[in-house]
Amino acid sequence: MHLVIFDIDGTLTDTTRIDEAGFEQTLAEEFGLHDVSSDWSIYRHCVDSWIVSEVFQQRSGRPATIAELERFQQRFVRVLEAAYVRDATLFRPIVGAPELLAHLRGDPTWAVALATGGFRATAEFKLRRAGLSVDDVAAAFADDGVMREQIVRTALRRALDDYGVRHFERVVAVGDGRGDVHAARNLHLGFVGRGTGTGAERLRQAGAQHVLPDYADLSYTVETLRRCATPGPAR
Ligand SMILES: [Mg+2]
Repeated sequence: MHLVIFDIDGTLTDTTRIDEAGFEQTLAEEFGLHDVSSDWSIYRHCVDSWIVSEVFQQRSGRPATIAELERFQQRFVRVLEAAYVRDATLFRPIVGAPELLAHLRGDPTWAVALATGGFRATAEFKLRRAGLSVDDVAAAFADDGVMREQIVRTALRRALDDYGVRHFERVVAVGDGRGDVHAARNLHLGFVGRGTGTGAERLRQAGAQHVLPDYADLSYTVETLRRCATPGPAR
């Protein structure tokens, strides 16, 4: 059995823009932290729990407390809810993602898991609003660690438990960010990038050897998942 571990924002759901804007809005409204950079590459780990803590460290000389991280998540969900009411098109799936998930979950040679740098509460909200029913899929979130590698490893462990196997023949990660490429390389996983234009180029520069614009061509996508290589060195 092969396992594919999907990132969520920009990979399964076309929600990167609202996620970034919502993140900034939440820090401003809940904690009065304005003008936080949404160039996530400046943060050491591109994981929400880490970024909130790093912003707190910069602004108030100490990391965020558990209670503050809790408040952040609750407010972030409310911010996303309000955005959805304003404009439901901000929460669309990536083209072909629902069909790809349904196909893989119906194929006994594939196992599916999710690993995201977002919190569980916001990730579940975005998946539901994008019409992706993955409630019973093994998943790991920013609640499980502050490093992408930790989160991917947790998702893998949960998938082993869920599918009742001791190992997977092959594990493939799918993601749209440089951090996704780095984690796949560090963990020796196959990797397929999801991106177009400069996003795709960024993934290739980070070492991704396979990048798809979307999953509209289902059989080509599955073929790519089957044969993809571990990312090479960044160029
Ligand atoms: Mg992403």
